[in-house]
Amino acid sequence: MSDLKREELMRAAQEVLDASPPGSFVAFKFTCRRCGERNVFEEPNKLFERGECVRCGLDQPVDSGGFLLAMRVDPSPRPGLN
Ligand SMILES: [Zn+2]
Repeated sequence: MSDLKREELMRAAQEVLDASPPGSFVAFKFTCRRCGERNVFEEPNKLFERGECVRCGLDQPVDSGGFLLAMRVDPSPRPGLN
C-alpha cells in the first residue's frame, strides 16, 4: 500500500477497523524522509503528529503514512478446557 495523506489514512484505517472483528487494531507506519526506513508506531490506533526514525534518528512531522491491521490475542485462559 502506498502512503496516504493523514486524512485519507485515518479514513481508510477507520473503514478497515469497522469491518474487522473485536480485538483488531491498526498500527500506523511512516516512511523516513531522510533514509527511507519504514517506521511503525507501536501504540495501537494512534497516528502521531511526529515520529522518530528507528534507523537514522531523525525526528520529523508525519504528513503521510500507511497502516497495518493486527489483532490482540486475549491472554486469559479459555473457559472450559479443564
Ligand atoms: Zn531515517
